[in-house]
Amino acid sequence: MLYEDLAGRLAEVRERIAAAVARGGHGQLVTLVAVTKTHGPDAVRAAWNAGVHDVGENRVQEALPKMHAVTEPVRWHLIGHLQRNKLKAVDHFTLLHSVDSRRLAEAVHEHGVSRRRPVHALLQLNVSGETSKGGFAPADVEPVGEWLCGCGGIAVQGVMTMAPLGAPEAALREIFAGARAARDTLCRLGHPAAELSMGMSGDYEVAVEEGATMVRLGTILFGARGT
Ligand SMILES: *Cc1c(COP(=O)(O)O)cnc(C)c1O
Repeated sequence: MLYEDLAGRLAEVRERIAAAVARGGHGQLVTLVAVTKTHGPDAVRAAWNAGVHDVGENRVQEALPKMHAVTEPVRWHLIGHLQRNKLKAVDHFTLLHSVDSRRLAEAVHEHGVSRRRPVHALLQLNVSGETSKGGFAPADVEPVGEWLCGCGGIAVQGVMTMAPLGAPEAALREIFAGARAARDTLCRLGHPAAELSMGMSGDYEVAVEEGATMVRLGTILFGARGT
Protein backbone atom coordinates (compact mmCIF):
# COMPACT_ATOMS: atom_id res chain seq x y z
CA MET A 1 0.00 0.00 0.00
CA LEU A 2 1.31 3.44 -0.88
CA TYR A 3 -0.73 5.62 1.46
CA GLU A 4 -0.91 8.22 -1.31
CA ASP A 5 -3.74 10.19 0.22
CA LEU A 6 -2.17 10.34 3.69
CA ALA A 7 -1.02 13.96 3.41
CA GLY A 8 -4.52 15.08 2.48
CA ARG A 9 -6.14 13.11 5.29
CA LEU A 10 -3.63 14.51 7.75
CA ALA A 11 -4.29 18.07 6.66
CA GLU A 12 -8.01 17.58 7.22
CA VAL A 13 -7.50 15.91 10.62
CA ARG A 14 -5.12 18.66 11.76
CA GLU A 15 -7.70 21.27 10.79
CA ARG A 16 -10.38 19.45 12.73
CA ILE A 17 -8.09 19.19 15.76
CA ALA A 18 -7.38 22.93 15.65
CA ALA A 19 -11.11 23.69 15.43
CA ALA A 20 -11.82 21.35 18.36
CA VAL A 21 -9.13 23.03 20.48
CA ALA A 22 -10.76 26.38 19.76
CA ARG A 23 -14.25 25.07 20.65
CA GLY A 24 -13.08 23.34 23.81
CA GLY A 25 -11.26 26.32 25.22
CA HIS A 26 -8.49 24.34 26.95
CA GLY A 27 -5.81 25.95 24.78
CA GLN A 28 -3.68 22.79 24.76
CA LEU A 29 -1.13 21.63 22.22
CA VAL A 30 -2.14 18.32 20.64
CA THR A 31 0.32 15.64 19.55
CA LEU A 32 -0.98 13.42 16.79
CA VAL A 33 0.14 9.82 17.29
CA ALA A 34 -0.27 7.80 14.09
CA VAL A 35 -1.27 4.24 15.03
CA THR A 36 0.47 1.90 12.58
CA LYS A 37 -0.51 -1.46 14.09
CA THR A 38 -1.24 -4.13 11.45
CA HIS A 39 0.43 -1.87 8.85
CA GLY A 40 3.98 -2.36 7.66
CA PRO A 41 7.05 -0.14 7.92
CA ASP A 42 5.90 1.71 4.80
CA ALA A 43 3.06 3.24 6.83
CA VAL A 44 5.59 4.60 9.33
CA ARG A 45 7.72 6.06 6.54
CA ALA A 46 4.66 7.59 4.89
CA ALA A 47 3.64 9.18 8.20
CA TRP A 48 7.13 10.57 8.74
CA ASN A 49 7.23 11.99 5.21
CA ALA A 50 3.88 13.65 5.84
CA GLY A 51 5.25 15.37 8.96
CA VAL A 52 4.12 12.98 11.70
CA HIS A 53 6.84 12.33 14.27
CA ASP A 54 4.95 10.13 16.73
CA VAL A 55 3.91 6.57 15.97
CA GLY A 56 1.84 4.22 18.14
CA GLU A 57 1.95 0.44 18.32
CA ASN A 58 -0.12 -1.77 20.60
CA ARG A 59 1.99 -4.93 20.60
CA VAL A 60 5.68 -5.26 21.40
CA GLN A 61 6.05 -8.34 19.16
CA GLU A 62 4.83 -6.35 16.19
CA ALA A 63 6.59 -3.08 17.03
CA LEU A 64 10.16 -4.31 17.51
CA PRO A 65 10.68 -5.75 13.99
CA LYS A 66 9.03 -2.64 12.54
CA MET A 67 11.48 -0.45 14.44
CA HIS A 68 14.36 -2.40 12.96
CA ALA A 69 12.97 -1.90 9.47
CA VAL A 70 12.50 1.86 9.82
CA THR A 71 15.38 4.36 9.79
CA GLU A 72 13.28 7.50 10.20
CA PRO A 73 13.75 8.83 13.76
CA VAL A 74 10.11 8.65 14.82
CA ARG A 75 9.15 8.59 18.48
CA TRP A 76 7.53 5.23 19.27
CA HIS A 77 4.61 5.05 21.69
CA LEU A 78 3.46 1.80 23.27
CA ILE A 79 -0.33 2.08 23.52
CA GLY A 80 -1.35 -1.53 24.23
CA HIS A 81 -1.08 -3.82 27.22
CA LEU A 82 2.49 -4.65 28.21
CA GLN A 83 3.17 -8.10 29.63
CA ARG A 84 5.59 -8.00 32.52
CA ASN A 85 7.88 -10.55 30.83
CA LYS A 86 8.37 -8.05 27.96
CA LEU A 87 9.15 -5.14 30.23
CA LYS A 88 12.60 -4.43 28.82
CA ALA A 89 10.95 -3.48 25.53
CA VAL A 90 9.92 -0.15 27.10
CA ASP A 91 13.49 0.99 26.47
CA HIS A 92 12.61 1.31 22.79
CA PHE A 93 9.61 3.58 23.37
CA THR A 94 9.33 7.29 24.15
CA LEU A 95 6.21 6.81 26.21
CA LEU A 96 4.28 3.88 27.66
CA HIS A 97 0.58 4.82 27.54
CA SER A 98 -0.78 1.71 29.16
CA VAL A 99 0.20 1.23 32.79
CA ASP A 100 -3.03 -0.53 33.66
CA SER A 101 -2.41 -2.15 37.05
CA ARG A 102 -0.46 -1.69 40.24
CA ARG A 103 1.54 -4.84 39.52
CA LEU A 104 2.64 -3.46 36.16
CA ALA A 105 3.38 -0.05 37.68
CA GLU A 106 5.59 -1.71 40.27
CA ALA A 107 7.44 -3.72 37.62
CA VAL A 108 7.90 -0.62 35.45
CA HIS A 109 9.24 1.28 38.45
CA GLU A 110 11.71 -1.50 39.24
CA HIS A 111 12.85 -1.54 35.63
CA GLY A 112 13.38 2.23 35.69
CA VAL A 113 15.44 1.92 38.86
CA SER A 114 17.54 -0.88 37.41
CA ARG A 115 18.31 1.07 34.24
CA ARG A 116 18.88 4.27 36.31
CA ARG A 117 16.46 6.30 34.20
CA PRO A 118 12.75 6.63 34.93
CA VAL A 119 10.29 5.13 32.46
CA HIS A 120 7.98 7.82 31.08
CA ALA A 121 4.48 6.46 31.37
CA LEU A 122 0.77 7.23 31.51
CA LEU A 123 -1.73 5.57 33.80
CA GLN A 124 -4.45 3.87 31.80
CA LEU A 125 -7.88 4.66 33.16
CA ASN A 126 -11.03 2.65 32.74
CA VAL A 127 -13.56 5.42 33.26
CA SER A 128 -16.53 3.64 31.74
CA GLY A 129 -16.09 0.49 33.82
CA GLU A 130 -16.23 -1.82 30.78
CA THR A 131 -14.99 -5.19 32.01
CA SER A 132 -13.31 -5.92 28.67
CA LYS A 133 -10.92 -3.02 29.21
CA GLY A 134 -7.98 -2.80 31.56
CA GLY A 135 -6.97 0.18 33.60
CA PHE A 136 -7.47 1.87 36.92
CA ALA A 137 -10.88 2.95 38.14
CA PRO A 138 -11.13 6.70 38.71
CA ALA A 139 -11.41 6.08 42.45
CA ASP A 140 -7.99 4.37 42.42
CA VAL A 141 -6.17 7.35 40.94
CA GLU A 142 -5.61 9.21 44.18
CA PRO A 143 -4.22 6.27 46.21
CA VAL A 144 -2.19 4.94 43.29
CA GLY A 145 -0.92 8.42 42.54
CA GLU A 146 0.17 8.85 46.17
CA TRP A 147 1.92 5.51 46.16
CA LEU A 148 3.69 6.41 42.89
CA CYS A 149 5.15 9.53 44.51
CA GLY A 150 7.57 7.09 46.15
CA CYS A 151 8.42 5.28 42.90
CA GLY A 152 11.33 7.10 41.28
CA GLY A 153 11.66 4.56 38.48
CA ILE A 154 8.46 5.69 36.82
CA ALA A 155 7.80 9.26 35.68
CA VAL A 156 4.03 9.69 35.52
CA GLN A 157 3.37 11.95 32.57
CA GLY A 158 -0.42 11.79 32.65
CA VAL A 159 -3.36 9.59 31.82
CA MET A 160 -4.62 7.54 28.89
CA THR A 161 -8.15 6.33 28.31
CA MET A 162 -10.34 4.69 25.68
CA ALA A 163 -14.05 5.28 25.31
CA PRO A 164 -16.41 2.48 24.24
CA LEU A 165 -16.79 2.31 20.45
CA GLY A 166 -19.78 4.24 19.21
CA ALA A 167 -20.73 5.70 22.59
CA PRO A 168 -23.09 8.68 22.39
CA GLU A 169 -21.52 12.10 22.69
CA ALA A 170 -22.75 12.78 26.22
CA ALA A 171 -21.16 9.53 27.42
CA LEU A 172 -17.92 10.37 25.60
CA ARG A 173 -17.76 13.76 27.29
CA GLU A 174 -18.29 12.23 30.69
CA ILE A 175 -15.51 9.70 30.12
CA PHE A 176 -13.05 12.22 28.74
CA ALA A 177 -13.81 14.75 31.47
CA GLY A 178 -13.27 11.98 34.03
CA ALA A 179 -9.84 11.29 32.56
CA ARG A 180 -9.04 15.00 32.67
CA ALA A 181 -10.01 15.13 36.34
CA ALA A 182 -7.74 12.14 37.03
CA ARG A 183 -4.87 13.88 35.25
CA ASP A 184 -5.46 16.96 37.40
CA THR A 185 -5.42 14.81 40.54
CA LEU A 186 -2.01 13.41 39.56
CA CYS A 187 -0.71 16.95 38.97
CA ARG A 188 -1.98 18.04 42.36
CA LEU A 189 -0.06 15.15 43.94
CA GLY A 190 3.10 16.52 42.33
CA HIS A 191 3.47 14.34 39.25
CA PRO A 192 4.54 16.01 35.98
CA ALA A 193 1.28 14.72 34.53
CA ALA A 194 0.57 17.16 31.71
CA GLU A 195 -0.52 14.59 29.13
CA LEU A 196 -4.03 13.42 28.40
CA SER A 197 -3.93 10.66 25.77
CA MET A 198 -7.46 10.17 24.50
CA GLY A 199 -9.32 10.19 21.23
CA MET A 200 -9.30 7.63 18.40
CA SER A 201 -10.59 7.86 14.85
CA GLY A 202 -14.25 7.85 15.89
CA ASP A 203 -14.11 10.25 18.81
CA TYR A 204 -10.99 12.42 18.62
CA GLU A 205 -12.82 15.71 18.10
CA VAL A 206 -14.83 15.32 21.31
CA ALA A 207 -11.65 14.20 23.11
CA VAL A 208 -9.79 17.31 21.98
CA GLU A 209 -12.70 19.51 23.03
CA GLU A 210 -12.36 17.89 26.46
CA GLY A 211 -8.64 18.65 26.65
CA ALA A 212 -6.77 15.76 24.97
CA THR A 213 -3.07 16.52 24.47
CA MET A 214 -2.46 13.32 22.47
CA VAL A 215 -4.80 11.67 20.00
CA ARG A 216 -4.11 8.13 18.75
CA LEU A 217 -5.32 7.78 15.18
CA GLY A 218 -5.18 4.70 12.98
CA THR A 219 -8.16 4.05 10.72
CA ILE A 220 -8.80 7.66 9.77
CA LEU A 221 -5.22 7.98 8.48
CA PHE A 222 -4.42 4.58 7.03
CA GLY A 223 -7.81 3.08 6.25
CA ALA A 224 -9.57 0.10 7.82
CA ARG A 225 -7.37 -2.61 9.27
CA GLY A 226 -7.81 -6.01 7.74
CA THR A 227 -8.27 -7.80 11.05
C1 LIG B 1 -5.90 0.69 17.56
C2 LIG B 1 -5.81 1.69 18.64
C3 LIG B 1 -6.04 3.06 18.38
C4 LIG B 1 -6.43 3.60 17.01
O1 LIG B 1 -7.73 3.25 16.72
P1 LIG B 1 -8.48 3.82 15.41
O2 LIG B 1 -9.91 3.70 15.74
O3 LIG B 1 -8.06 2.96 14.27
O4 LIG B 1 -8.05 5.23 15.23
C5 LIG B 1 -5.93 3.95 19.44
N1 LIG B 1 -5.60 3.53 20.68
C6 LIG B 1 -5.36 2.24 20.97
C7 LIG B 1 -5.01 1.86 22.36
C8 LIG B 1 -5.46 1.28 19.96
O5 LIG B 1 -5.22 -0.01 20.25
